[in-house]
Amino acid sequence: KLSLQHVSKSYGSNYVLQDVSFHVDEGEFVSIVGPSGSGKSTLFQLIGGLYAPDNGDIMLDGKRVNNSRGHISYMPQSPALFPWRTILQNVLLSSEIAGQKDSTKAKELIEKAGLGGYEQAYPNQLSGGMKQRVAFIRSLNSPQSIICLDEPFSALDEFTRFEMQEWLLTIWEEYRKSILFITHNIDEALYLSDRILILSEKPASVKKEIIVPFTRPRAEDILLTEQFMK
Ligand code: ATP
Ligand code: MG
Repeated sequence: KLSLQHVSKSYGSNYVLQDVSFHVDEGEFVSIVGPSGSGKSTLFQLIGGLYAPDNGDIMLDGKRVNNSRGHISYMPQSPALFPWRTILQNVLLSSEIAGQKDSTKAKELIEKAGLGGYEQAYPNQLSGGMKQRVAFIRSLNSPQSIICLDEPFSALDEFTRFEMQEWLLTIWEEYRKSILFITHNIDEALYLSDRILILSEKPASVKKEIIVPFTRPRAEDILLTEQFMK
């Protein structure tokens, strides 16, 4: 479980986050929406341990993790792939950092993302959308139980976006991860998440919390229903 308690952050005199508190339960899918420049990416940089909050605490399973990297898998808004590493090597970075050598899952993810055959290609041989998908699966390939995705589908066309949304939901169910998801798209947030946090204008805090009132049929529900119908 991830929880933020009264987190504040400013860049010099630019007061960006003010008293932000929320939590993400195990296995939950939580989206964050808010105006451009309100501090959503900053929030992720704090959670990812790239910066420390000025005030407040970031807790993971009851432990304070302010300013410590590596606890959470984080996909930045403009993800960078290493140009001198192949696609497979880029995807493997997230598991190698955690000391895992097995590449089975990485190869599986590459295949599922429609990038089969590109394992040995280099990032400059890929389109923008393809690179975004590589960064996305790199974050999924991490063994961490919480994944933070900062507008992962923003550069994708409608069709690919829909495919990736469906795929993210499948993966979320399969690997039982907690997902924290930034998007500009309310429809996307409503479609994907259990809960939506709406940030106010800068200095941002959580203005409103929406519990998505309908439940999407989950894989396990479908399975149960099928068993019940027999
Ligand atoms: P968008 O929806 O456009 O991605 P955002 O909600 O993610 O916006 P942030 O990128 O977190 O917003 O930026 C919030 C504020 O913090 C902005 O005023 C921005 O100029 C400032 N800011 C962000 N990163 C830095 C940085 N590294 N140094 C200084 N100021 C920064
Ligand atoms: Mg942003």
